Amino acid sequence: NRIVAIVGRPNVGKSRLFNRLARRRISIVHDEAGITRDVISTEIEEGRYTLLDTSGLGLTGSDTPQRITAAAEQQVDFAIDTAGLILFVIDGLSGTTALDEQIARKLRRAKAKVRLVVNKADFDEARVDLAEAYRFGLGEPISVSAEHGHGEGRLREAILDALGPAPEPDGEADDAGVENAEEAAPQPYKSREKRPLRLCFLGRPNVGKSSLSNRLLASERLIVSDMPGTTRDAVELPFTFTGRNGRSYPFSLIDTAGIKAATKLAAPVEYFSRLRSLDAIQRADVVFLVLDALEGVTQQDKAIAGEAVKERKPIVVVVNKWDLVHAAFEKPEGLKGFASERDYREKYERAVFERLFFTPGAPLIFASAHSELALDRMMNAAVKLDRTLEKKLPTGRLNRLLAELTERTPPPVVGSRRFRIYYATQTGRRPFRIRIFCNREDRLPESYRRYLESGVIREFKLEGCPVYFDLVGKE
Ligand code: GDP
Repeated sequence: NRIVAIVGRPNVGKSRLFNRLARRRISIVHDEAGITRDVISTEIEEGRYTLLDTSGLGLTGSDTPQRITAAAEQQVDFAIDTAGLILFVIDGLSGTTALDEQIARKLRRAKAKVRLVVNKADFDEARVDLAEAYRFGLGEPISVSAEHGHGEGRLREAILDALGPAPEPDGEADDAGVENAEEAAPQPYKSREKRPLRLCFLGRPNVGKSSLSNRLLASERLIVSDMPGTTRDAVELPFTFTGRNGRSYPFSLIDTAGIKAATKLAAPVEYFSRLRSLDAIQRADVVFLVLDALEGVTQQDKAIAGEAVKERKPIVVVVNKWDLVHAAFEKPEGLKGFASERDYREKYERAVFERLFFTPGAPLIFASAHSELALDRMMNAAVKLDRTLEKKLPTGRLNRLLAELTERTPPPVVGSRRFRIYYATQTGRRPFRIRIFCNREDRLPESYRRYLESGVIREFKLEGCPVYFDLVGKE
């Protein structure tokens, strides 16, 4: 990975070095790049890597020598787990100490690359005891003066050398939804690139999956039947959808046999059809979850929705057969218990979000295969979700947000202590994957996880796209 962490015992000049590399003055770094009170990060060399200063980690204020040693250990452990490259800073003027030795011992066993930096080589390198530095067994030391800038160029080069070439930024011709590309987290991402957007219809038998598919494909390629369970094979059908605005967009429909009720089919058929649906969900970029307008949200809908949620796919909820609801309210008797079509729609909407646990902001569309109601809105929703999936979450903004969220509503105390976030960075897309370095992953209660998740979704406008937190505990 392209995270560079600075470690070293207190007073060797870590913060100075951080500021020197960040080309910032101390006060500004703390105000702007400060993410949590514990770890400070900033993007360096146009985002070619992220630099971390771990100095604050583990310190409490009233620090005894034992506390300082423990804190240094914690900082080094954190760096080992987090960073691809560690800059181990020692003080060239005052010489090495037992704590330096202790840190070096840990670093020699680390998988991450380590570069030894001898600081305070201010004017006269000869005064710095490099021979002592070599004894750490961490390769050739780089001498610098964080204070005056001596050796800075060499250090910058050494860092870039150690990291190797930066991955190519995603060639994204389409700029919609992609923001701050230059500030992007530097990990490689999955991108849909040039292939068509893959869709699948998911829903219980008879909700109208095949009818909707047929409408979209504008042909009778799929057999629609009043008998549940007539579409048997999962196949991919490419098609182009042209919206009302005249723009065409390439799609591919993964047709599935649907998830059948166990009572309707013999067990092995049921088993294979489930597998096929799962395969379709996994292959899809966006899942259309189809519900029946008259039947409402059933237990089976709930189970089926769960499958898509589990696979972390963005979902468009399609309430099909709306023509029947509309027709009912055309008649004087309407539908029992509902004042109007609008009242029915509002109650339906509430039922969906109360009974199905979706990613916040999943689009809900009232449609009809028969009257071709809202087909273009379905497709637009899918395209919008797909674009959103391409977003990059700038590390600085992400960490500032998490710091704000945890300040506004602190995590509950679990056991005797609170969940605490040190640092977070996006590590993937489709789905959004955010690695969070924290004190202990088991201190994050589900409700608080959802609070953080919806905060991230709101901040980065990821409505409808699942966000996955990958927690790495540090204690
Ligand atoms: P699937 O099992 O989910 O693929 O459902 P089908 O597409 O086979 O549709 C099941 C039944 O519902 C068929 O009789 C369709 O004609 C009917 N149907 C599908 N969509 C609509 C719709 O929008 N409006 C109405 N009124 N009936 C529909």
